[in-house]
Amino acid sequence: MDLIVQKFGGTSVATHPARLCVISKITKAIEDGFMPIVVVSAMGRLGAPYATDTLLNFVKENAGTMESHEYDLLLSCGEIISAVTIATMLNERGIKAKAFTGGQAGVVTDENHTEAELLYMEPKRLLKAVEEGYVPVVAGFQGVSLDYQITTLGRGGSDTSASILGAGVKAAQIEIYTDVDGIMTADPRVCDKVHIIREISYSEIFQMADSGAKVIHPRAVEYAMKANIPLIIKNTFSEEEGTHILQTTEEIKGEIIRGVAHRTGRVQYTILNSNIDLLDKVAQEHISIDLINIFPTIKVFTINEVNQEKLEALLDKEGCEYSKITHCAKITAIGEKMTGIPGIMARIVRALTSHDINILQTADSLTTITCLISEEEVSKAICALHEEFKI
Ligand code: ADP
Ligand code: ASP
Ligand code: MG
Repeated sequence: MDLIVQKFGGTSVATHPARLCVISKITKAIEDGFMPIVVVSAMGRLGAPYATDTLLNFVKENAGTMESHEYDLLLSCGEIISAVTIATMLNERGIKAKAFTGGQAGVVTDENHTEAELLYMEPKRLLKAVEEGYVPVVAGFQGVSLDYQITTLGRGGSDTSASILGAGVKAAQIEIYTDVDGIMTADPRVCDKVHIIREISYSEIFQMADSGAKVIHPRAVEYAMKANIPLIIKNTFSEEEGTHILQTTEEIKGEIIRGVAHRTGRVQYTILNSNIDLLDKVAQEHISIDLINIFPTIKVFTINEVNQEKLEALLDKEGCEYSKITHCAKITAIGEKMTGIPGIMARIVRALTSHDINILQTADSLTTITCLISEEEVSKAICALHEEFKI
């Protein structure tokens, strides 16, 4: 019998009716002859009692700033509550199930708290539970270090857990269940012209995830791709077939631009005078920069808005003159087929400027084109690209 991993996100486990839908997806997999290993996220989003952001805000507001290992210990609780709830619901319905923390399931990581990396996956305990006829229900987003400290895998990391477990147990497929019918051509919350992408390559979905499409974590794509395990994104609340992620696009028909991802909360800095080692000093402060352009007299780059204070303290210390534009967003058009086709950038620029959208900066790679624009214009820009490229 084939093992499959079924991962259910925060909205899928948020309410009792939602959790009943989860139970029916697990039951269906068993009826179809699969042995499921279930991975769950914390219940709901900010405001829900056990959601990750609620736990985080509670301690911040009532106690202050946490040490990073305590931050991880706290955040791991949300997923553990979900795992115990789903395992109990399965047991109540006559399906033998056992809840596991990430560490108990064999996810061993480094000690880089809040963004831990996998060291190795030891699947023995999970496989033993499956052999004994149990459905393992694993708390996502977490692992354990060699020093027995609980670690977390970065926000949105339950997807990563699903791929780590899938690769570890050599699953036949990994199903990521969420609140939309699959991967869409852009975030359905920002543009009403989007539609489902039925098939997409690992590298295209990786680019989309890495450029801000929250529907799947980029590291989940990376692990599944390395292990060559089929990855499917589906809706917990519908019977739609979802999006299948394939190894190459050779067999995928489609437009030049397959999707558009966006990331808000960017700030563009123009540094007018600086020493040669400024970028080294920015890196030493752990400030990640992108859209970097170096000209003979100025440097331009963007950062996440949360790092503004830290960066400006450094720029002041270094005596740099600078200007900044806040509330920017990056929109990234993605498509493996754009490689070597001339004129795509010209069409993007025309589509945006004809809708009076000011382009602040651009960057491109073989399969992506990124434009920096004002946050307020994200919806308009994404819809304009859908029209221009008939996405
Ligand atoms: P989960 O809790 O199931 O992990 P997330 O909130 O992390 O769910 O991801 C699902 C959300 O991702 C959707 O509700 C949707 O708004 C958003 N999203 C962003 N970009 C896309 C996209 N290209 N396709 C589908 N959903 C997207
Ligand atoms: N609960 C975690 C988060 O909100 C992990 C996840 O949902 O994937 O980031
Ligand atoms: Mg998610």
